[in-house]
Amino acid sequence: MRIGLGFDSHRLIAGRPLYLGGIGIPHPKGLLGHSDGDAVIHALIDACLGAAGEGDIGQLFPDTDPATAGVRSTILLQDVVGRLRKKGFRLGHADVVVAAETPKLGPHFEAMKDALCPLLGLRRDGLGLKAKTHEGLGDIGHGRAIACWAIVSLVKIPPRKK
Ligand code: MG
Repeated sequence: MRIGLGFDSHRLIAGRPLYLGGIGIPHPKGLLGHSDGDAVIHALIDACLGAAGEGDIGQLFPDTDPATAGVRSTILLQDVVGRLRKKGFRLGHADVVVAAETPKLGPHFEAMKDALCPLLGLRRDGLGLKAKTHEGLGDIGHGRAIACWAIVSLVKIPPRKK
């Protein structure tokens, strides 16, 4: 079994749709980024790549590539999980902590699981989602940014019997 850790943060700015955990969330601000800015998925991708020894999201999807400008991060995650499968890995579990002062994320966790579990190839109890505020401190606490940490385990897929 292999373990990977990922982190990501993005600025929250007015006038962008908010995408987090693979879903759109109604909010006056959205995450600024080359893609849709989904920090939960970006942290999950880096955790997956780290566990597989495959570098990081910036190497795989450079923010200078016009092909990924504005892309939904769910597409990127699907690509990464496919790469892991080709290397003979599947996810064992994933666990996520999101630091956001607003919006409240707990009410959106079930919808996030609906979006993420099929992409990750996990059962609902294989994905942990937790939200923390930043107690009003710093940029996260003032609603100017959202940060996310993710940890995943990868397990080797047994070779098919001939
Ligand atoms: Mg990112």
